[in-house]
Amino acid sequence: MLDQPYEYRRRELAEPDWTRLPGWARVTREEWESAQWQRAHCVKNIRQLREVLGGGLSDAFCADLERDQQERATMSMLVPPQMVNTMAPGHGAAEASFTDAFYADPVRRYMIPVFSDRRADWPSHPYAARDSLHEAEMWAVEGLTHRYPTKVLAEVLPTCPQYCGHCTRMDLVGNPTPVITKHKFVAPRDDRLAAMINYLKATPGVRDVVVSGGDVANMPWPRLEAFVSALLDLDSIRDIRLATKALMGLPQHWLSDEVRAGMERLGSTARQRGVSIAIHTHVNAAQSVTPLVARAARAMLDTGIRDVRNQGVLLRGVNDNAHALLDLSFVLLDEANIMPYYFYMCDMIPGSEHWRLSLAEAQALQHQIMGYLPGFATPRIVCDVPYVGKRWVHQVSRYDTELGISYWTKNYRTAVEAGDPLALQREYAYYDPIYTLPAEGQQWWLGQDHDEAPASLTTARQ
Ligand code: SF4
Repeated sequence: MLDQPYEYRRRELAEPDWTRLPGWARVTREEWESAQWQRAHCVKNIRQLREVLGGGLSDAFCADLERDQQERATMSMLVPPQMVNTMAPGHGAAEASFTDAFYADPVRRYMIPVFSDRRADWPSHPYAARDSLHEAEMWAVEGLTHRYPTKVLAEVLPTCPQYCGHCTRMDLVGNPTPVITKHKFVAPRDDRLAAMINYLKATPGVRDVVVSGGDVANMPWPRLEAFVSALLDLDSIRDIRLATKALMGLPQHWLSDEVRAGMERLGSTARQRGVSIAIHTHVNAAQSVTPLVARAARAMLDTGIRDVRNQGVLLRGVNDNAHALLDLSFVLLDEANIMPYYFYMCDMIPGSEHWRLSLAEAQALQHQIMGYLPGFATPRIVCDVPYVGKRWVHQVSRYDTELGISYWTKNYRTAVEAGDPLALQREYAYYDPIYTLPAEGQQWWLGQDHDEAPASLTTARQ
């Protein structure tokens, strides 16, 4: 074999031993595999984290976490035992080095962020925004984002079984934090869902619905099944994608009898009607793919749905190198039958600068991962450009690497640009993290008045 930059090796999945963690030392396999037990034992605060990890976690770590929660966190803490157990998986909580391993762990870095993780110089980009993709501006009815010509995003609920520190929908999803209030839906849930179905009935040009939130695993099963069944009743809908990070974070939910039986019913109806149902999950690190996650993915495929796909997020300190991305993609594909699909660049929400990569870094990673996986399973690294939508990172129209501003174009209108004759000629800006720029670029940003978007954002192409 030739020497290659990446060496492929199959890896055997193993569920990390949860009894190494003092708080769960007596938990039985039956309890561990129960969705109810997992939900009841989620870690929601520092006290609970300490109870689970025992003395393994230093006071300094807890102070660092406390400060982040008070001053920076855009998401409250909610981590199912399944996910806690994949952090520092080879380390017993009693080991002297446990805190160091926990600090360095990629899953910890995005699920339990601490103050010292974040940039002190630029914790947020000057143009970071709560709803950075402007989804609410594009709501056709409350919670239904119509951003692309033939597809919509249905935010059916604002909660998840786990809260990720970098959540793009931090504006809407989860509980308020000391520094972030949350947008609340106005209409009651069932009214909103009915309005979504009515909009889709009246808009037959939409053929594809992403059913999301939040995470659909938090919707009571009968209500979710009724909504998806109503979508299946519409002749115009040909693709339905159920968005759930819980396939990884709480696989016990998708393995429960009620959910499996319900997915069988939906899968069977979809097959009869020639509609594709897929599950889209969100895994960022190879160590998150455990035997239970693989079992849940296979159980879903056994219901006859078309596919289970992964949409990870590219995060510094988590998966910002080709080895990490390829290890994750191969373990998903080989061991869990999950299709590596996308890696999104982390969006420009407040407090995310330390996680974000520059466009140039993302382009280099896309180049480095090409040619190892089958073409159909080679994930595309995409930038979700505000007011444009997802673009492969090499689709940039022009790129000022000194100022870290990339310019993008679009080929369709949303309702927001209905009256804008220049919408399809305009260039739309996206920004690199300022600390990654050359000194001249950083200096330029220090001197800017950030109350207004730069002229380049609104300049039509010549
Ligand atoms: S699971 Fe998705 S919606 Fe929920 S907090 Fe994480 S990123 Fe946000």
